Amino acid sequence: MRLLIVSDIHANVDAFDAVLEAAEGERWDRALVLGDLVGYGAEPNAVIERVLSLNPLAVIRGNHDKAACRLADASDFNHVARAAAMWTAETLTDENRAYLTRLPMGPISTDDTVEICHGAPFDEDHYIFDLPDAGHALDTTARPICFFGHTHLPVVYRRDSEGDTGFVPEVEHHLDLPLGDGARYLINPGAVGQPRDGDPRAAFGIYDTQRRVMTMSRVDYRVDLAQKRIFDAGLPPSLAHRLAVGR
Ligand code: ZN
Repeated sequence: MRLLIVSDIHANVDAFDAVLEAAEGERWDRALVLGDLVGYGAEPNAVIERVLSLNPLAVIRGNHDKAACRLADASDFNHVARAAAMWTAETLTDENRAYLTRLPMGPISTDDTVEICHGAPFDEDHYIFDLPDAGHALDTTARPICFFGHTHLPVVYRRDSEGDTGFVPEVEHHLDLPLGDGARYLINPGAVGQPRDGDPRAAFGIYDTQRRVMTMSRVDYRVDLAQKRIFDAGLPPSLAHRLAVGR
């Protein structure tokens, strides 16, 4: 099975459409969505409808999804994120708000080898930024391969008999990473809709469960269109500016 792995779409339909178009040639079978479908961007309803049209194998909620359907109060958000969450809450259709409300909390195992979470397997809202955090997460994973999001930073952590290591993949367009037997992995494919690693291109992954190969990908999209939607919606302009620099 070839799994399309997308995280942190953040209501950026232009980025999401570019990812789906790029992934079309990759013959993927089922999709895994790691949360934060909405928040920051200007097309929350369109993104939810795209996700539904994929008939994903699993979708879990992120902190922005919770804030947008008022399962969380957004008090820990900065004022820009809170303004976007309030705008999103008002813009969602009743049907899509109900969909977000029903999204399960991670982690969820999708087979004997793969699980997904938004932040960390031990806490859906925790950010994994460094090797100690990754080590704590690897202590608590239920499967040898755990995909996560939330930080918007592509990264691969690996645990084997030698210990824990981590690296940031340098992805020109596609990078194939064979996953070794007998090791445990914690992999962030990066963000579709709001990358923060200094590369504005949308990020996604495809994992081939038979070949045990993870492919990390980056794709250009019309940042200017996503920005215009943000300006036109009256969302904080900083949310548009950051897309251009991938921060
Ligand atoms: Zn996010």
